[in-house]
Amino acid sequence: MREKQRGLALGAAALLALAAALYFLPRGAGRETRRYEAVWYDLFDTVTTLRGYAAGEAAFEQEAGRIHDALLEYHRLCDIYNDYPGLVNLKSVNDGAGGAPLRADPRLLDLLELCRSMYEDSGGAVDVTMGAVLALWHTARENETPPDPAALVEAAKHGGFAFLEMDAEAMTLRLTDAGARLDVGAVAKGWAAARVMEHAPEGYLLSVGGNVCASGPKPGGAAWVVALENPDGGWLHTLELTRGSVVTSGDYQRFFLGPDGTRYHHIIDPETLQPARRWRAVSVLHPDSGVADALSTALFVLDRPAGEALVERRGGAALWVAPDGEEYRTEGFLTVS
Ligand code: AMP
Ligand code: MG
Repeated sequence: MREKQRGLALGAAALLALAAALYFLPRGAGRETRRYEAVWYDLFDTVTTLRGYAAGEAAFEQEAGRIHDALLEYHRLCDIYNDYPGLVNLKSVNDGAGGAPLRADPRLLDLLELCRSMYEDSGGAVDVTMGAVLALWHTARENETPPDPAALVEAAKHGGFAFLEMDAEAMTLRLTDAGARLDVGAVAKGWAAARVMEHAPEGYLLSVGGNVCASGPKPGGAAWVVALENPDGGWLHTLELTRGSVVTSGDYQRFFLGPDGTRYHHIIDPETLQPARRWRAVSVLHPDSGVADALSTALFVLDRPAGEALVERRGGAALWVAPDGEEYRTEGFLTVS
């Protein structure tokens, strides 16, 4: 969660940019709403944008403030690099590995339950308990040098949900293995976006680093139009979203190039412990952005039959972009261009 994303200047303080562009007059309604926008750089180490229709700037700012502050709470809970006074977060759980259970925020237990269920359903393709392996890749991206294969194998021995004890009644978390580490980077952005947007009025669209989540249509019922990135730059498709989420995992988001041009990106296949090579990008549509986020990572690792079966079980739709540029999609993944 502390990784600097290429090309983005990430500030510590929130930067709230409000654009008061008049955009829409609601059909038949006596009251005018305008479209506003806010951009934040202090959440989940990525750029977050919120667009929404409100009766005035004050109303939008109030809603934006609530959404920002709630996302910041989720960010802090999921942070594995920073301590916050009085807060038990995932860094606390990681630091306490091999020690006593820690009483944690029930929301963290909910997140980890979702992660466990996605781990089981994906046959281990999305595994937030392989934090020790992911930490080696994190350092590798910073140094632009691939990790030592023997170190990866050693780190992988400390992964697996068998090492995570969750007690829902006592609300405690404990990693039973001193070398075990959690990293929820594959699920947290979408999960937080979904939880926060559950309470938003209709007509808001949130993008947390490309994890896009809509609270409902624009005034008058029009859908939001969301663009999907082409892994080689530009846009691939646009799609209409009124409610729910679309999330993309791609090899172009965080990576470095080896001397021979090999792309060492950030989605790691738990079987090979190397960057997954089947796809360039996978986008998932799902009503719950947390599930969409976990699915996009899982599908990026899995082959197509396994991915299709998983997305069908979970009630979503998916679009795969193969290394040769071929695209595959499930029936429900409709694009407008
Ligand atoms: P996403 O962009 O949602 O696909 O998530 C990628 C992030 O999740 C990476 O930056 C890693 O922190 C983490 N990650 C990478 N591979 C996996 C995996 N197979 N299972 C769980 N987390 C992963
Ligand atoms: Mg994901």
